[in-house]
Amino acid sequence: MTTEFEIIRRHFTRQARTAALGVGDDAALLRPRAGSTLAVTTDMLLAGRHFFADADPESLGHKALAVNLSDLAAMGAVPRWALLSIALPRADERWLAAFSRGLFRLARRFGTELIGGDTTRGPLAISITAIGEVPEKLALRRDAARAGDDVWLSGATGEAALGLAHLRGRVRLRGSAREACLRRLHAPEPRVALGRSLRGIARSAIDVSDGLLADLGHVAEASRVAAELRWEDLPRARAIAECGSAALARDCLLAGGDDYELAFTAPVSARPRILAAGKKSRVRVTRIGSILKGRPEVRVRDARARVVAAPRAGFDHFA
Ligand code: ADP
Ligand code: MG
Repeated sequence: MTTEFEIIRRHFTRQARTAALGVGDDAALLRPRAGSTLAVTTDMLLAGRHFFADADPESLGHKALAVNLSDLAAMGAVPRWALLSIALPRADERWLAAFSRGLFRLARRFGTELIGGDTTRGPLAISITAIGEVPEKLALRRDAARAGDDVWLSGATGEAALGLAHLRGRVRLRGSAREACLRRLHAPEPRVALGRSLRGIARSAIDVSDGLLADLGHVAEASRVAAELRWEDLPRARAIAECGSAALARDCLLAGGDDYELAFTAPVSARPRILAAGKKSRVRVTRIGSILKGRPEVRVRDARARVVAAPRAGFDHFA
């Protein structure tokens, strides 16, 4: 029988490199760099709610960490350490090996070290806490957008939600569109390099995990401003443009969720530096709207200034 300690030793223990003390003691010991602020975030994934119980464990390991690194990216922080709390229905060696492979592969790519966690038996649940660093006063926050700022978006939204709609039988995707959407859903790429290079350039940022409108709504609330997006300027992945349903495409674009792109605001004077930051971090950045004075809300208008009907608040296409 595999014990809790064998699971930890076999699957979740690696030589500590940057931590003063990693897995194995009552607590890890960290040495933050002088002058940096720690950015700390946690996200929980539950079987049946955030993923299917039979989901591929390697993707799950990737995604559980990726969603946390995305939060750090949105703060302009660089990831350094992570803690993993996991409840497992049983000690399934193959599952654990695949899960930790997915997790450690992403961790290595982003220089993130697993420094501890907790392992218990129970219905499958995964909670990761990620810790990153950002130079003092340079963190990108939600409450710093100002009237006159441009609104920018990395990459494009909607593909992950379209992939989920496909898995749920609401749409039939094929070929490369299907592949692209499922990759976005299962293996999101946190925009760490972009977040870092937006330090001191962007004014506010958020990562888009619950849908573009909902997440920009948080920026509007926190900054006490309104945001207006230009419908035609929203970047559209091919799968979205070609999915065959205008309503589904619109809902995925504006309210899909699971995108893990960065939405951020910056003064007009920063345009060239933002384009350069996108180029340097190899991710497309698109100007999609403006921040305005007024009641905190997010509106979308088309080229003829008509308001684009947004999915109702709390509306969930896939529930
Ligand atoms: P304690 O009982 O003192 O809380 P545990 O027995 O829970 O310690 O864990 C022993 C060590 O293994 C600790 O350093 C803990 O951080 C680490 N650990 C436990 N589970 C995990 C996990 N899933 N991933 C990484 N480290 C873990
Ligand atoms: Mg414990």
